[in-house]
Amino acid sequence: MKIALIGNGIQANLGALYLRNRFGDKLHITRIGPADRGGLPVVGESIIEITTHFMEGHLGLATYFRDNHLPKYALTYYFKIDPDNPEDRTYSVHCNERAPDDLRTVPGWTSPMNQPPSWLLNREVFDRDLHRMVDDQPAIHQIIGLVKDVEIRPGGQHLLTVQGEDGTMQTVEADWVIDLTGRKQLLGRKLNLVVKPDGQRDCFWFRLKGFDRELLKNINALGPMPAGPGEEYHYERYYSTHHFMGRGFWIWNIPMKDVDGSDMMSIGFTSHPDYFEGNVKNIDDFLMYTDQSHRVVSDLVRSGTVDDTNMMKRYHYVVKQVYSPDRWAIVGDAAYAPDPLFSNGLAFGVIQWDQIGEMLMRDLEGRLDDQYVHTLSDALRIHRSHIRLILHLTSSKHATSWAKFVRNILSIWARKRSIAGRWKCWMIFVVFMNREQREDGFGMNIPGRFWKK
Ligand SMILES: Cc1cc2nc3c(=O)[nH]c(=O)nc-3n(C[C@H](O)[C@H](O)[C@H](O)COP(=O)(O)OP(=O)(O)OC[C@H]3O[C@@H](n4cnc5c(N)ncnc54)[C@H](O)[C@@H]3O)c2cc1C
Repeated sequence: MKIALIGNGIQANLGALYLRNRFGDKLHITRIGPADRGGLPVVGESIIEITTHFMEGHLGLATYFRDNHLPKYALTYYFKIDPDNPEDRTYSVHCNERAPDDLRTVPGWTSPMNQPPSWLLNREVFDRDLHRMVDDQPAIHQIIGLVKDVEIRPGGQHLLTVQGEDGTMQTVEADWVIDLTGRKQLLGRKLNLVVKPDGQRDCFWFRLKGFDRELLKNINALGPMPAGPGEEYHYERYYSTHHFMGRGFWIWNIPMKDVDGSDMMSIGFTSHPDYFEGNVKNIDDFLMYTDQSHRVVSDLVRSGTVDDTNMMKRYHYVVKQVYSPDRWAIVGDAAYAPDPLFSNGLAFGVIQWDQIGEMLMRDLEGRLDDQYVHTLSDALRIHRSHIRLILHLTSSKHATSWAKFVRNILSIWARKRSIAGRWKCWMIFVVFMNREQREDGFGMNIPGRFWKK
């Protein structure tokens, strides 16, 4: 069976390796895309556990990550207790500083912090190395060029028109076409599937070098408390994705390892134009807002050197359908561009690769039915409600009330030593979130009887 992967970004290359590993010679894989990104910025340095599970489990990258990237101990959220006071550095810090006991071990990992649940990637390094891994697999056929058109033929045997770098044209036939063209959205646009929802996002981001990492600790953090007696160990909080929450915006800080092993940091300002009236388009604008809100971030930035800056305006979209019984699929940024509050961009894509693997397996065995494809495609709605939850959490009204609530509940939580005490705090938090979200009609549907107990 012939598979055409259109694109040469992270998802195209992850997918090419995954399909090759899983299906071997049963699939003839062709990746079609330009030789490089043509100056487009990379972003997406923070991966979460689902993405890690895929990359380590299906692609065997655990020791590669160990040697070339930084460990990541989950996500850390900083809610300011007094958001209107620029001087105040008191934060309710929400993070996960203790290890789950069921994590896999990474061979040869020597850090005192035991098993890292995930990784902080230097995307330039990772994307370069991923290309090399694909180059090392001669069975993955590569065409350097741009797909100019795709003729979708019901049931398969699609026809792609490809323009090479020297301008020559050729046609390629494929049983399955997978669109991985990122924001170009080749199939989404051709088939009129792209939706630009309300609740848009703007983002300004940059990479920082030569900074003083100790400055990140210069806050008055309410919880979590240090490990108690008998508790095994405590994470070093630096190795997580840091989220500083504001009114209508939030700021990420992602530590990374530069090619020479020195510290590097990706820093981004994501805002919601319906709630945030400013326009952050350069470092001066960025510092103006952090001076008013999160001086700890201003201090960190002023201690280092800015390496590059990037910006995207009103970048949020989704597509209405991701798979078709006509044998096409849309994956990664070609399908959706959410707010990265939970570092979930790459996670959506790797979930899709597992789904595509199942569809291809059934197709090879002659038992792929339309209903199965539609069911998986409809699961996109789960992605969309997840995206809406993020929009909800970072909107002005809820970011403030959520912050207040989190502050109160987490400072109580922080003082509780027993698992049962913390569990109660967590349940109160979930009830609160459920009540807030039901106002928007997409909260969890938890039976009333449960709450009365
Ligand atoms: C501000 C921001 C922060 C983010 N942070 C995170 C994060 O912390 N963690 C995370 O997991 N994700 C994050 N993401 C998401 C993540 O960065 C993206 O999902 C991911 O990089 C997209 O990869 P892709 O391969 O789908 O697209 P791309 O990397 O855009 O690749 C598309 C490829 O298609 C090629 N192409 C385009 N047109 C054609 C054509 N006609 N023919 C052939 N090839 C073509 C391009 O040249 C390119 O090679 C973030 C996203 C944003 C916007």
